[in-house]
Amino acid sequence: MTAKYTPMMEQYLSVKAQAQDAFLFFRLGDFYEMFFEDAVLASRELEITLTGRDAGADERVPMCGIPYHSAESYINRLIEKGYKVAICEQVETPAEAKGVVRREIVRVVTPGTVMEGKALPEKANNYIAAVAERRGSLALAVCDLTTGELYTAGTGASFSDLLDELSVYSVSEAVGAARLLERLNESAPDRARPVALTPREAAAEDEALLLSQFPSQQIAVLAPEQRAAVSLLLAYLKETQKRSLAHIGAIRVYETNAYMTLDPFTRKNLELSETVRDRSRKGSLLWLLDRTVTALGARLLRRWLDKPLMNADAIRRRLDAVEALHRNVLLRDEIRESLKSVYDLERLAGRIAYGTANARDLNALKSSLSAVPQLMELCANSGSDALADIVRDADDCADVYRIIEDGIHPEPSVSVREGGIIRDGYNERLDRLREASGNGKRWIAELEQAEREATGIKSLKIGYNKVFGYYIEVTRSNLAAVPEGRYERKQTLAAAERFVTPELKEKEALILEAEEKTVELEYGLFVEIRERIAAEIPRLQRLSEQISALDALQSLAVIAAANRYVRPEVHDGYEMFVEEGRHPVVEAVLESNTFIANDTSFSLDGTRALLITGPNMAGKSTYMRQVALISIMAQIGSFVPAKKAVLPIIDRVFTRIGAADDLAGGQSTFMVEMRDIQTMIAKATPRSLVVIDELGRGTSTGEGMAIAQAVIEHLHEKAHCKTLVSTHYHELAHLEQTLEHLTNACMAVKESGDQVTFLRKLVKGAADSSYGIYCAQLAGLPATVIERAYALLSEFEGRSKARDTVKKASREAAAGVEQLDLFREWKDPEAEKRNAMAVTIMELLNNADLLNMTPLDAMNMLFELKRKAQE
Ligand code: ATP
Repeated sequence: MTAKYTPMMEQYLSVKAQAQDAFLFFRLGDFYEMFFEDAVLASRELEITLTGRDAGADERVPMCGIPYHSAESYINRLIEKGYKVAICEQVETPAEAKGVVRREIVRVVTPGTVMEGKALPEKANNYIAAVAERRGSLALAVCDLTTGELYTAGTGASFSDLLDELSVYSVSEAVGAARLLERLNESAPDRARPVALTPREAAAEDEALLLSQFPSQQIAVLAPEQRAAVSLLLAYLKETQKRSLAHIGAIRVYETNAYMTLDPFTRKNLELSETVRDRSRKGSLLWLLDRTVTALGARLLRRWLDKPLMNADAIRRRLDAVEALHRNVLLRDEIRESLKSVYDLERLAGRIAYGTANARDLNALKSSLSAVPQLMELCANSGSDALADIVRDADDCADVYRIIEDGIHPEPSVSVREGGIIRDGYNERLDRLREASGNGKRWIAELEQAEREATGIKSLKIGYNKVFGYYIEVTRSNLAAVPEGRYERKQTLAAAERFVTPELKEKEALILEAEEKTVELEYGLFVEIRERIAAEIPRLQRLSEQISALDALQSLAVIAAANRYVRPEVHDGYEMFVEEGRHPVVEAVLESNTFIANDTSFSLDGTRALLITGPNMAGKSTYMRQVALISIMAQIGSFVPAKKAVLPIIDRVFTRIGAADDLAGGQSTFMVEMRDIQTMIAKATPRSLVVIDELGRGTSTGEGMAIAQAVIEHLHEKAHCKTLVSTHYHELAHLEQTLEHLTNACMAVKESGDQVTFLRKLVKGAADSSYGIYCAQLAGLPATVIERAYALLSEFEGRSKARDTVKKASREAAAGVEQLDLFREWKDPEAEKRNAMAVTIMELLNNADLLNMTPLDAMNMLFELKRKAQE
């Protein structure tokens, strides 16, 4: 028998049916309640008590609830875990209701559609994406609902290009056909994967929505797959948000090749916006470059870093502005000072359009607008065309400022439904109502005095509470003096009695009525003001763009001045020349001036590939990353850490860095490495920069070296890209003789006695030692292990020399049969075994990532070394 529920529970079930994939927050009085599975799961996720409720059936229904006023923090917690929350409110008052009060879902909050609160990072956009495919071509549409930005781009037939593009935005939610999302889920590397995936097939109505949201000329330029992605995204936003999305007014279509391509691994490896080790912002390039004053400036700077430009003129325009601000300290300081009164203009505009902005938000908008005239003047009179261009035709939205100034109370209450938000003198009727309630209150205050005198009770006072209204309170000891007949007893307390009089009641009714009307009228006036401003959103958005650009540019100028960066010269050719380049972040965290600068030089006729050998800890990785970072910085329009830099436009940076850091991804390290190399080989162009740190390390020495050589040869012969390779295979140095454009380089070290000093200087030539054992010694490995390692090393090197001699002899020998014989002769099984062991030990030592090792890891490694040595 199916259970029959109470009407309220039936209503719950029918609403829940519309929000299957979300927690349903069902409003009952002052609580949002959850029932059934939602309640069970929420009680676990939110650590709140699970109770039950009689709902007409035999069994009690599982239930848990949260007070409506603290809902936001609970919603945020669920969103952060990737859930969605559907908010169901009462949409009529109990007085209006026939039967159960009508309830409807008013909004579904999802990871990609959060509008406020902790789940929303201040300095980064929160993006939601839709992906679509039409006739084999893929596209994505991406929107930040808080600011109203909407981008779309096609990525052709390549799914990996779609993934790369998606990773640019670190989207927190993706919508799309189930089939596409499945592929996304399978192939996206950990960090590129959105928090939430929402399958949704395109529907016929989506198209109509698209047409009603955007001007037809914006839609006309979209490719079918872009059109599909945008309409899918819009339909999903409408469906979940259930309101006008007027602030999403423009579709920004772009070509992916207008920006430098950086795949998710490269972004991660270069630590552009977070560090590899703990994924913190601190220690990343963005952390270093971000000296913005406003949140919108911080977000724009991040967008710039996410998408370095490819157009030399556009880069120069940014550089011009940075240069002007770099030169003029005073101007920079004044601009920074003015920016301090700018609040989050973009998101304020978003909340206004959304209908969630309160009176304080409007005042924040007013404060922001108050800074605009001065900012415009500073730029216009700066003497720099680049700065003047930013504010050319700028609209200071003075009318919006006036609307708020005239209408909104300077210190309004937070709630828009309790009055105290509209300025005196704004509305005549409001003034009259306020006067009426003010007069009433004055009358009551006077009454207190008059009654004290009439009764002779000095402690008599008039008070107010929500339940009983105004009352006269007389302490128990004075009750005898209360006038008979005139006072009506209302409430008895332990130490006092409360009374009312007919006149008091009459005044009270007047005051309360006036107050109620005031609140209602104020709310009406407020909404009217908000709507008037909402009509100006496109102007506010344009202004936001100008202000955020100015803020991002001044940030780059500040950091350039603070760190002695220079303006790079960018060009469309091949040559790269950096004099005394530095790694911006390593330099910043090292003690002052201890960073050793190094040069870089690539040219079509000269060096195209640099093979860097040299000891562990010598600074190879730092150097290679520094070259990539300098290019990226230049292409976002930043000055660069160098004495002089002439830089070509780089279309893509590929990196293959470090072995250990991919373990978290759960894939075979070597396999990941080979996949990255495959992408590199398939996609590198002469305009690309390839950085390979420790190539071919994840497999046996022989095979690793063979792969390394083959890859280097390929990049050199076929791709002609600029290549930086570091390797411990010193044997590869011979490539310099056969590959015309490959140059050997190494990090210099100074040996004195048994001390080794890393000079961090890149010099020509190949290194002949990795100093791996020396590093192990520095890390504190016991002397016995170190000695044994040195002994094994010399034994191994002896053998390797012997082998070299044999190989040389064999190469020189004419007949193949002889070669085989010679090898056979040399192969002593015992020695081979010892040799193999020595190689293993060396590899273990060489591969040890000492800097990132925990003491326990070190102990385990020691144990392993010892076991191998004993064998
Ligand atoms: P391994 O082969 O062990 O990975 P590596 O040669 O790649 O080592 P890095 O990791 O680049 O070495 O550098 C090791 C440390 O040396 C860095 O963390 C940094 O503190 C310091 N360092 C690197 N380059 C420089 C430099 N140019 N000037 C000063 N210090 C540097």
